[in-house]
Amino acid sequence: MPNAAQSIVLATRNAGKIRELEAPLRTFGLSVLGLDAFPELPEVEETGETFEANALLKARAAAEGSGLVAVADDSGLMVDALGGAPGVRSARYGADHTPAFPGESQDARNIRKLLDALAEMPEERRGARFVTVMAVCKPGGADPLIVRGEWEGRILAAPRGSGGFGYDPVFFDPVAGRAAAELTPEEKLARSHRGRALRELLRLWPAFWSRRAEPLAE
Ligand code: IMP
Repeated sequence: MPNAAQSIVLATRNAGKIRELEAPLRTFGLSVLGLDAFPELPEVEETGETFEANALLKARAAAEGSGLVAVADDSGLMVDALGGAPGVRSARYGADHTPAFPGESQDARNIRKLLDALAEMPEERRGARFVTVMAVCKPGGADPLIVRGEWEGRILAAPRGSGGFGYDPVFFDPVAGRAAAELTPEEKLARSHRGRALRELLRLWPAFWSRRAEPLAE
C-alpha cells in the first residue's frame, strides 16, 4: 500500500492516462492512484457546459472522496464551422446517428456524423482544435490549479491512419503534415492538447504543491 501522504489521485479508470502522469510525478516523489483504488466513490456526472467545469467537478469529487490531492481532465474536439461543437459532448456526439451497420463503434459513428455535418465544406472552413483542461484540487476545494492545452488543425474529408483513438483519423495537423492517427504515440504527445496541458501542469506543479494547505506527513 503506498504511503497515502505521498499519493495523489487521478480521477480516471483509464490505465493509459494514469501511466502518463505517473512517470513525471514520480520525479516529484509522488505516486499516482487511479479511481480503482477508491471503489466506494460514485461516478461523477459530467454536467458542465465547459471543459473547465467538468474537470473541476471530477477533481473536486475525487479530492473529497479520497482525502488526497486530485487531478482530473476533460477533453474534446471543437470545430469552428459547428460553433465549437462537439465540444464537451465529443465522446457521445454520434450517439443519435443511426449505426451504419450493427456493432459500429462509438468512435466510427462520431466521425461519420462529423464528416456528414461538414460535407461540402471547403478546406479553409474546416478549422478545428482539440482541447484538454486539467484541474487539480485539494480536499476542501479551495484554490484549484487549472491548465489548458490546445492543438490546432483541420478536419479531413475522409479518415487517414490507424493510430490513436476518437477523432484522430480525421484531425489533420498542418505542422506535422499528417493526421493525428498517422503520428506515433510519442509524436502525438509532443504535439497534442493533452501533451501541452500535461507539460503546463508539470511546470506549475511545484508551486501548487508547496502552497497546498495540508503539509505532507512524514
Ligand atoms: P476525454 O475527456 O479525454 O474522455 O475525451 C472525450 C472525447 O473527446 C473522447 O471520447 C474523444 O471522442 C475525444 N478526444 C479527446 N482527446 C482526443 C484525442 O487525442 N484524439 C481523438 N479524440 C479525442
